Amino acid sequence: MHYFTPKRCTESNKIMYHDKATAQRAADQSFIERGTELWVYRCEYCGTWHLTHRDPRTSYRAVPLNQELKPHSRKKGYKPRRR
Ligand SMILES: [Zn+2]
Repeated sequence: MHYFTPKRCTESNKIMYHDKATAQRAADQSFIERGTELWVYRCEYCGTWHLTHRDPRTSYRAVPLNQELKPHSRKKGYKPRRR
């Protein structure tokens, strides 16, 4: 058996897809095989496409209480460093 080893993003450690169509296909496949709904987004670090479990359109809106806040807390006056 020959396994395809995908490249991973150094920043997010996510699989890198070089075009949106390929990423979308992988997302569809994940939903078919595992029932996991994934969204495609473009990575600002490496410029390729990644999959995310969270809908990028809703992730910046209200977060349900059972989903704890992300590790990086937004303190007053603190600007997240862009890498
Ligand atoms: Zn990336």
